[in-house]
Amino acid sequence: MQQKKINMVPDKKIALVAHDNKKRDLLEWAKYNRDLLSHHEIYATGTTGETLTRELDLKINKLQSGPLGGDQQIGAKIVSNEIDFLIFFWDPLEPQPHDPDVKALLRMAVVWNIPIACNRATADFMISSPLMDGEYTRLVPDYEEYRTRNIDLGSGKR
Ligand code: PGA
Repeated sequence: MQQKKINMVPDKKIALVAHDNKKRDLLEWAKYNRDLLSHHEIYATGTTGETLTRELDLKINKLQSGPLGGDQQIGAKIVSNEIDFLIFFWDPLEPQPHDPDVKALLRMAVVWNIPIACNRATADFMISSPLMDGEYTRLVPDYEEYRTRNIDLGSGKR
């Protein structure tokens, strides 16, 4: 498949999401990296966003709570190139009511080749990368080939 190029500017559009048992982790991480985060545009699911707004003096665009559709809103924004970076501390030890949405969000991040950090160590490596504050050209498969694929509808006669 051909590749398309999507330009990521120095000020990234970052989504922050954490399941309840991981919210403390994300909060500590965001506090520690507050200055590095401050020039980016931050989005978050509802409760994660509330927690971060209370504890950090950062402008955060809050979406719905994850189980109420927030994960899907972030997924949709990835598709329309309104979010280009995902920090998602999901809980590997507890089933979630919205597990299908969690899977869908992770899938969209891979489909559109955006960076995802699902734990603190990865988030640390990503935020300290020299690519973080520069331009970056993201390669995304040219899905036109997929969109225009032939579908065999048969003869239609019975
Ligand atoms: P929340 O959602 O920030 O509203 O708790 C997180 C999630 O479960 O996706």
